[in-house]
Amino acid sequence: MASNDYYRTLGVARNAGHDEIKTAYRKLAMKHHPDRNPGNNDSESAFKEINEAYEVLSTPEKRQIYDQYGVDGLKAGAGGGRGGFGGFQGADLGDMFGDLFENLFTQGQGGGRGKPRTRRGADLKYGASITLEEAFSGVKVPVNFERTEVCQECDGTGARGKTGIRKCPACQGAGRVQYSQGFFSFSQACPDCGGQGEVISTPCRACGGAGRQKKSAIINIKIPAGVEDGAVLRVSGGGDAGLRGGDSGDLYIQVSLKHHPHFERQGPDLAYECPVAVWQAALGGETDVPVIEGGRVKIKIPQGTQHGKVFRVPKQGMPAAGGRDRGDLLVKVKLEVPHDLTPRQRELFEELAKIAGHETPAEEKEKSFFKKILG
Ligand SMILES: [Zn+2]
Ligand SMILES: [Zn+2]
Repeated sequence: MASNDYYRTLGVARNAGHDEIKTAYRKLAMKHHPDRNPGNNDSESAFKEINEAYEVLSTPEKRQIYDQYGVDGLKAGAGGGRGGFGGFQGADLGDMFGDLFENLFTQGQGGGRGKPRTRRGADLKYGASITLEEAFSGVKVPVNFERTEVCQECDGTGARGKTGIRKCPACQGAGRVQYSQGFFSFSQACPDCGGQGEVISTPCRACGGAGRQKKSAIINIKIPAGVEDGAVLRVSGGGDAGLRGGDSGDLYIQVSLKHHPHFERQGPDLAYECPVAVWQAALGGETDVPVIEGGRVKIKIPQGTQHGKVFRVPKQGMPAAGGRDRGDLLVKVKLEVPHDLTPRQRELFEELAKIAGHETPAEEKEKSFFKKILG
């Protein structure tokens, strides 16, 4: 029966200290060791369970996550940030059994340092906001962000100077500890030093022994021409530094485009709303429109142009990402009716209305006036 209660598995209280947990683990590990119980499947699974429980409860950060979120927290890496502990059930535990069994079969050799457990740093995500013009031409932008870096003071060791590190007293610097009972003995990575053979006696002043420090960083991101709004760029190794020499995480930059006063992006094309006076639309003519590179280009307005009509100006849009192709500029006609008329303009419009058979508001007013008087 697999139990997810690691404290029950080891038979310790939830507030048990490190030594108590270690003692309980050793006792149970001896009892259920496969070598002492050949062919006993119950013992074998119990042995796996107690190792799993110990792996978590003996690692302060894993224990904290387990206490807070349970087993699922460890699987999901909840609270631990991305790149957290998701892999521990596979890799670390595998390593552990590897260590154990390897030594069972090569009994007595027991030497050699255990490999210190490294961990990859977390991935980070930040944003960069650029103008449409910058997206058009491509741009290099500085991005300010915070990340965990290897402590410069101690070079990641976590110790103050060379004297800040001493031989691990539990394993005498071997990185492995050997247990024996009767004819049987086995060894595993030293739980006190994590297999490194060394412990910190005087922690580094700058990082307090963590070996890593939060630092503000600045990185110049090259954003390619034609980038889309929301695109995510990856800077390999730009994230948090790894633990104990582990790889750095990656840095992800999400690009967002600032609102542009004239243009709206529509894939590779740019849309522009062009105001056209009502008489110009009726008579036809020429106007000019702005382009993304700066300046303006002339376009033709045919006579009888309707509101909402779209004219396509070829190759005046955005560059297609990666290619030499360019989108078009889509000019959408926005018919503009004058807000105020000069007396002369009013005269002309009234005449236009008369020709078209429309009544002007003035005439309508007159009519209703007479209607009222005449009943
Ligand atoms: Zn040790
Ligand atoms: Zn340091």
